Amino acid sequence: MTDLLAVRDLSVFYGARAQAVERVSFTVAPRAVVALLGANGAGKSSIMKALAGLIPARGEILFEGAPVGALTTRQRVARGIVYVPEGRAIVGSLTVRENLVLGGYQATAVQRRERMAMVLDLFPEIAPRVDGAAWKLSGGEQQMLAIGRGLMAGPKLLLLDEPSLGLAPLLVRRVFDRLAGIRRDGELAIVLVEQNLQMTMRLADGVHFLRSGRLVGHRHRDDLQTRAARQEVIDAYLGAAGQHAA
Ligand code: ATP
Repeated sequence: MTDLLAVRDLSVFYGARAQAVERVSFTVAPRAVVALLGANGAGKSSIMKALAGLIPARGEILFEGAPVGALTTRQRVARGIVYVPEGRAIVGSLTVRENLVLGGYQATAVQRRERMAMVLDLFPEIAPRVDGAAWKLSGGEQQMLAIGRGLMAGPKLLLLDEPSLGLAPLLVRRVFDRLAGIRRDGELAIVLVEQNLQMTMRLADGVHFLRSGRLVGHRHRDDLQTRAARQEVIDAYLGAAGQHAA
């Protein structure tokens, strides 16, 4: 089976000397959820932005078997690679509906209508607020809107950058459970960037650990079923203050 995404030796530099990502390689199978876990500054967002075509990178990015590294962001969106940035980058002054329409800018009117209905069905919290200003939504609802906007593009691969950032655990669980639902029902694959192993495990099939721009370890979800196994990877790879296996 061909991988949906194959990343080979991806490197990202900021300026001549600062290397944020160093020869990172991984694959994403169709319908898989692959997580990249690492502390602040490990290079997670840089990988996502490089995959989305927002920053230059070295190395090879194959999507559905074809190289996409030379394509613009817009062309990648048209292929089905859609980035949802961290920090719920929605347009607060626009309505919820207008934000969603923006996400489907390359779609036909019929597709937009269908996807809008799907998104509002998936996140009923935002449905009654669809004609209200986006800034009035709560943090969790804004995150749902940001993901919804990504889904409006009809992605095959969703690049989700720290969707849990600043959200209460209960809300994160809700958002992740909805994503698990979409994934069960459709063809969607996800690259998920997170700092928290516990949340990641709700959704991911496999986890890559990233430190100082390099992939330093990988675990399949089956290998992370016990508390001891999770604590072992936290100690080995994340060294994360305040992070405990559960
Ligand atoms: P976080 O969880 O804090 O978002 P991250 O794992 O996503 O961190 P990146 O944002 O990819 O990490 O940053 C990786 C490295 O690149 C860091 O050392 C960071 O300081 C540096 N970096 C990120 N963006 C820039 C930039 N625009 N210019 C210069 N250096 C940058």
